[in-house]
Amino acid sequence: MLKIDCDKCIVCGICESGCPFAALHCEDDCVVVDENCTLCGACVESCEVGALSIEVGEKKVQQDLADWQGVMVFGEFRHGTIASVTYELLGVGRKLADARGVGLSVVLLGTDIGSHGPSLIAAGADLVYLVDHPALEQFREDAYGYALEKIIRLKKPEIVLAGATAIGRSVIPFVATLIDAGLTADCTRLEIREEDGMLLQTRPAFGGNIMATIECPDTRPQMATVRPKVMVAAEPDGNRKGVVESIDLDEKLTSSKVEILETVISEEEQVNIQEVETLVAGGRGLESEKGFALIRELASELGAAVAASRAAVDSGWIPYPHQVGQTGKTVHPKVYIACGISGAIQHAVGMQSSDIVIAINRDENAPIFDIATYGIVGDLYEVIPALIKRIQEVKSDSSR
Ligand SMILES: Cc1cc2nc3c(=O)[nH]c(=O)nc-3n(C[C@H](O)[C@H](O)[C@H](O)COP(=O)(O)OP(=O)(O)OC[C@H]3O[C@@H](n4cnc5c(N)ncnc54)[C@H](O)[C@@H]3O)c2cc1C
Repeated sequence: MLKIDCDKCIVCGICESGCPFAALHCEDDCVVVDENCTLCGACVESCEVGALSIEVGEKKVQQDLADWQGVMVFGEFRHGTIASVTYELLGVGRKLADARGVGLSVVLLGTDIGSHGPSLIAAGADLVYLVDHPALEQFREDAYGYALEKIIRLKKPEIVLAGATAIGRSVIPFVATLIDAGLTADCTRLEIREEDGMLLQTRPAFGGNIMATIECPDTRPQMATVRPKVMVAAEPDGNRKGVVESIDLDEKLTSSKVEILETVISEEEQVNIQEVETLVAGGRGLESEKGFALIRELASELGAAVAASRAAVDSGWIPYPHQVGQTGKTVHPKVYIACGISGAIQHAVGMQSSDIVIAINRDENAPIFDIATYGIVGDLYEVIPALIKRIQEVKSDSSR
């Protein structure tokens, strides 16, 4: 916590004006701090009379770190299928487990899940833990959370990975709190440090302007979530061998305070820009909603889906489910065509792992060209119609 020594404070106002979070306020004879304080320490450094200090609580170091071994993935199972993020997590989990020389396990909670072991083993798992219980048929945060806590305490993995999906984002922080472990959300890179086996968890920070690498040296497991489509699933290998183990849980653990009255399927436009091979994305450079008619035309010629930058979504030109980026979706298509998008870091983090990026922009210095495989410098209202015309010509030539 921030400690304020009012005997030393001269109410000069330097800390108040320098606080990036507007958390300090000068009163008559001393400065006061409110709940916006993030303990960033800027005020401590700026205080010329030494009236401010940060009191650090006693650091807790877990004593049994060496007892925790292996990598565990929380496998998401919804409406009878395993969510694709599970296979992506097994892809990166396999690499981490190999780097540590340990096993890779996956936990599946639900009902009628018995037949899913082989596909998880083919995707890289050595061990599949199944908890098949009627109370786990639908996602309930408390029941899933207590079940996962129990399995983690029982199996003691050193690393736990989960999808940064609606379910993962809801239950994993709950589990991390129950077991007092560190958790890094929305990681874009995970790797093992060779010297000491530490999990290095990299994610965008400060609005995406820097990439921060986070370590959890004092507690186990090291927990991380990863958004869908950020990691790549391994090619399934049907010859892999693994073990499937059923786990019974105490009835108390599966009881829930949540009662599901009804499940309603959203009737909003169903767009899944994460599942398609080609995306044509439009940004502020379209200048108006009408620009998306051109984007849709190009997308339709290519059998592609339409994506957008946040600037286009915020302008109301296209709904949010199309947004790519830090606060939108992460996509990994074979081809991503960025039209009138500058390539701000918050957009780039959502699409830079596309196999091929084609950028159309009239500014030759736009950052999108730094990540583009092919770049076209020009006015999109001239370039896109020319592209559409050429695609139509090629199609009609090949149909002759
Ligand atoms: C916390 C935070 C989270 C964010 N999350 C996201 C996110 O998830 N996704 C996201 O996209 N952004 C996000 N942003 C916003 C991001 O910083 C940028 O503001 C945004 O990506 C810019 O969108 P844009 O490239 O469409 O627009 P601009 O940056 O305005 O770029 C428009 C581009 O179009 C070009 N252009 C203009 N006219 C033409 C023309 N006729 N022909 C060809 N080119 C033309 C210009 O040269 C320019 O490069 C976030 C920002 C913050 C702070």
